[in-house]
Amino acid sequence: MQTKAYAAQSATTKLAPFSVDRRAPGAKDVALEILYCGVCHSDLHTARGEWHGVQFPAVPGHEIVGRVTAVGSDVKKFKPGQIVGVGCMVDSCRSCAACKEGLEQYCDGPVSFTGTYGGPVGGGPNTYGGYSAAITVDQDFVLAVNHGEKDLAAVAPLLCAGITTWSPLRHWKTGPGKKVGIVGIGGLGHMGIKLAHALGAHVVAFTTSPDKIADARKLGADEIVISKDEAQMKAHQGSFDLIINTVAAPHNLDAYMVLLKREGAQVLVGAPPTPHPSPAAFNLIFKRRSLTGSLIGGIAETQEMLDFCAKHGIVSDIEMIKMQDIDNAYDRMLKNDVKYRFVVDMASLK
Ligand code: NAP
Ligand code: ZN
Ligand code: ZN
Repeated sequence: MQTKAYAAQSATTKLAPFSVDRRAPGAKDVALEILYCGVCHSDLHTARGEWHGVQFPAVPGHEIVGRVTAVGSDVKKFKPGQIVGVGCMVDSCRSCAACKEGLEQYCDGPVSFTGTYGGPVGGGPNTYGGYSAAITVDQDFVLAVNHGEKDLAAVAPLLCAGITTWSPLRHWKTGPGKKVGIVGIGGLGHMGIKLAHALGAHVVAFTTSPDKIADARKLGADEIVISKDEAQMKAHQGSFDLIINTVAAPHNLDAYMVLLKREGAQVLVGAPPTPHPSPAAFNLIFKRRSLTGSLIGGIAETQEMLDFCAKHGIVSDIEMIKMQDIDNAYDRMLKNDVKYRFVVDMASLK
């Protein structure tokens, strides 16, 4: 079915109206009308061709909340009218060790997982994401949304920003007694603060934007550090169990490595198109610290996060935009002027 969408035709053209062909639901498929789609910095990296191997036309968008319009004959979990979510993946090999463990994001299949946009990670036909009026997705990659109707726009960013911070927080066992740093208060970072706080950790937010201090406290940060202030940074030396770094640009990672205690970990989730300056080996060696990374989260874990957020009344702090304003939203994102996630009201496309 021809469906209205918004696409970048190349790295240097603004996004503009486009039409995508959505498949009629097969036996295991769920078709949904997209109500809201969050705007991730990954959308910007993609639309502007910043990452290697981006396929054009590109229809970004992987923070999707919508209403089910039709389901295939084998679909039992979802029914028409139900509110559901779709995140960063729409398929994976389903048979490798990672998939069997519910870690579809680390799928070892021949082409890895299939992105909601951009196609299979290992190469293959393009897929078109949530900047569109509708999408058809295999039921195994559809999430149940149990938040109330009034919260739905603010739920959308949980599908990427939420799970991408939830997964490392859980993997590194965040909870009471743990000191957790979140670097960068943007889409991912503001969710990281909320989730780490809700899990009971002592949360320290690192920001380059002094105007975000008051907000960071409201989001749940116990302390806020202006990362450019050396004295403020030094006061936290050797004290963190975990630091999640969400920054989308290359920067000095050593400034955070030295803040970890023995065996602490700095987890990179930010994905800058060019490398960070190489960190110093000594900061890793002396306290057996880890510098590591984390990619989104599995489907079961995403459902766990959505259910946790529904139970604890957690949503994203959003600014709603029209589809037509997307390039302006990207420009503002680059100026760190997003509080704290743009969400496209898909009614503007129809
Ligand atoms: P965002 O909303 O733009 O937030 C990034 C924040 O980083 C900014 O708000 C800013 O916070 C800080 N920042 C930006 N430039 C900086 C610089 N040069 N030096 C220091 N701090 C800087 O972006 P996002 O949507 O949260 O995404 C962040 C990154 O994560 C992107 O690269 C995205 O592609 C990636 N990502 C990765 C995954 C994954 O699975 N690993 C998933 C989703 C997104 P302050 O104003 O507080 O300093
Ligand atoms: Zn994303
Ligand atoms: Zn697999």
